[in-house]
Amino acid sequence: AFSLGPKISDWDQQRHQWLQQNPEYPNFVRGKARILLLTGSPPKPCDNPIGDHYLLKSIKNKIDYCRLHGIEIVYNLAHLDKELAGYWAKLPMIRRLMFSHPEVEWIWWMDSDAFFTDMVFELPLSKYDDYNLVLHGYPDLLFEQKSWIAVNTGSFLFRNCQWSLDLLDDWAPMGPKGLVREEAGKVLTANLKGRPAFEADDQSALIYLLLSKKEKWMDKVFLENSYYLHGYWAGLVDRYEEMVEKYHPGLGDERWPFVTHFVGCKPCGSYGDYPVERCLSSMERAFNFADNQVLKLYGFRHRGLLSPKIKRIRNETVTPLEYVDQFDIRRHSTVSS
Ligand code: UDP
Ligand code: MN
Repeated sequence: AFSLGPKISDWDQQRHQWLQQNPEYPNFVRGKARILLLTGSPPKPCDNPIGDHYLLKSIKNKIDYCRLHGIEIVYNLAHLDKELAGYWAKLPMIRRLMFSHPEVEWIWWMDSDAFFTDMVFELPLSKYDDYNLVLHGYPDLLFEQKSWIAVNTGSFLFRNCQWSLDLLDDWAPMGPKGLVREEAGKVLTANLKGRPAFEADDQSALIYLLLSKKEKWMDKVFLENSYYLHGYWAGLVDRYEEMVEKYHPGLGDERWPFVTHFVGCKPCGSYGDYPVERCLSSMERAFNFADNQVLKLYGFRHRGLLSPKIKRIRNETVTPLEYVDQFDIRRHSTVSS
């Protein structure tokens, strides 16, 4: 049977011992859990060069957010396990990072087609003290409706612990490319509401696992929907101007979405569910909306949400530090833990 690697069953002890022996790499720094954001894209160039440009914008957006909030970042371009190519590639990489970075408490996976759109909002980590997996999702959609979009695997958090390794082991077997993935896809389509017929994807497989082994796993899974850990783009991107008028960053919910995720858009690959022009202009808007929040400290903003051009929003001064006090996001973040 397929496995992600040698079975490890004492990771909590191994990691605990390592943390004790390496006090210079603590998993909590000034009371805050150490977070590593993992993202990535396929090893080869996109089918269309504009796709690579949007991958660049997407990683710039993530670098900005992570720098502002003291989060480390890893960009993966490799398929660590050739059986788990495509959307399954995140599984072996998450596992690998847990072993290679025992100092990291949370691994945060984020898709390449997801953008931070609230640069001020911070994860309310203390809410998750008793949990090991945090997913954006809705209990009713999951357990009543068994919907294939009940949770989203475009942006989620895994605690670095034995429980997570066990879950990855239980999640991966539908992933191997070819016959296994094809056959598993049929099981998922037969069991999950709304799912079109296609090979097994990581999101459906996780939903199926949580449904079929609810008792085993759900205790440690937090279904988050009080803010957009993942926010479906279609209802959000046309409202950014309205949000600017009425609200302010730091809210993270429908008033100012933390993450805007371009589900169904495939600017890098060949076939998506939406016209590529609509996807690209919407991504451009999300990127610039977020970038305006970053540029504010420097005294600039985009001419419009569709424009890569920027304009000055205040005059240069001989006492620039007053603007640091006023506009540095790091000072105005929502305190969480
Ligand atoms: N991904 C990756 N390597 C691959 C294919 C995908 O790292 O070879 C990542 C990428 O970040 C992408 C995510 O996996 O956003 C989900 O893959 P999918 O094909 O579902 O793309 P999406 O629906 O996000 O466009
Ligand atoms: Mn995605």
